[in-house]
Amino acid sequence: MLTMKQFVLGVIAIALLLPPMAAAKKINVVTATTDMAALAQEVGGDRISVDSIAKGYQDPHFVEAKPSFLLKLRQADLLIVVGLQLEIGWLPPLITQSGNPRIQVGAAGYLDASQFAEILEIPQGVVTRAMGDVHPLGNPHYWLDPDNGRRVAKGIAGKLAELDPPDASYFQERFQDFDKRLTAAEQKWDGEMAPYHGSKVVTYHNSFTNFAKHFQLDVIGYVEPRPGIPPTPSHTLDLIGLMKRENCKLVLVEPYFDLKTPNSIGSATGAKVLVYLPSVGGEKQVTNYFELFDYDIDLLKKAFQ
Ligand SMILES: [Zn+2]
Repeated sequence: MLTMKQFVLGVIAIALLLPPMAAAKKINVVTATTDMAALAQEVGGDRISVDSIAKGYQDPHFVEAKPSFLLKLRQADLLIVVGLQLEIGWLPPLITQSGNPRIQVGAAGYLDASQFAEILEIPQGVVTRAMGDVHPLGNPHYWLDPDNGRRVAKGIAGKLAELDPPDASYFQERFQDFDKRLTAAEQKWDGEMAPYHGSKVVTYHNSFTNFAKHFQLDVIGYVEPRPGIPPTPSHTLDLIGLMKRENCKLVLVEPYFDLKTPNSIGSATGAKVLVYLPSVGGEKQVTNYFELFDYDIDLLKKAFQ
């Protein structure tokens, strides 16, 4: 005789082994980050289920692996990564350990979204990770330019159509609708940011380049001496000197960094120190791609006024 506990465990085990019945038609999409999930959701609509591994308030370079990630990856039909080695510190072993042939690098269910985006700061010459740079292939924070959001959404729609040909026109229509809404939102955002073109900012990590390019802001320096390397006293002193010479009055900090050094820079220079959101889900109320820009542009407008 099975005990009730054994029975329940048995049912759960069978449920995990069997493909889900009612949801069998939905493409099970797993993304490395919330921004890729938000873009996939825009074009995938109700034909996909989508789940992100990293949370929007976490540093996407350094995510602590959990057993639950493996379960997600085992069941995925499609894995979307940011690429450019953003996830190299945590995702590759999980992909291997998942044993899911659909999402291995090079398989049809593995999508590196960086191939669709305009990539800035591609290094020239030989770059090694020993140099302490977590951006060896160019700046991986490209989703913070809405034009890249559009390009990535289009690429995802194409991949979903490839995996689910009968729904190809559905994904295409969803993309066109997203494109239209994004174009309208961009006009609004561009107008709101126009008075601040050329404004100087410092950011903690080098995650703001694509945003700054799109909205014509000038990032003059970083709290980190190199991407992924914590602040040092000598670099902080140099940065304070630079900010004073350039009359830079704003330091933007990603939500996952300590505010101690930014605050001391703020005191020394009279600059405001603000936490900006590099990702959807960085704050609870920022639940989609549009709300991410709404939030950050609102923050910047208030800072520059
Ligand atoms: Zn980075």
